[in-house]
Amino acid sequence: MTTMLAGQAADARAKGEALIRQADALLCESWNEKMWANGGPIDPSPTVDQAVNGGHRWLQIECSRCRTKREVDLTALRHPPTTAVHDLASRLRCSKCAKAGRRPPATLLQLTPLPRQAAPET
Ligand SMILES: [Zn+2]
Repeated sequence: MTTMLAGQAADARAKGEALIRQADALLCESWNEKMWANGGPIDPSPTVDQAVNGGHRWLQIECSRCRTKREVDLTALRHPPTTAVHDLASRLRCSKCAKAGRRPPATLLQLTPLPRQAAPET
């Protein structure tokens, strides 16, 4: 009986985790749609751990000054995982502009499962 209940607990937990992953993925997709349609509002947004858990670990950003685009790996950030994605806008800097002594904020574009340049550079 104990083993059976433990098995049921494991099953229920796995199902629950799958549902949360699904909810997190949907949250990322609905935020993306808001970004594509209107460019915002960026707040509210998923948290970093929701985005990662939902399989959208890459954040595409664009420099508001020079328009250079890049992808940020959310799992590589030093910010706490409870940080909302929109709070990163003012913290992520363009390295090109930083060299020129500027610190323009980043424009957030979308959350994606894979980086845009997934193919190896040739
Ligand atoms: Zn720039």
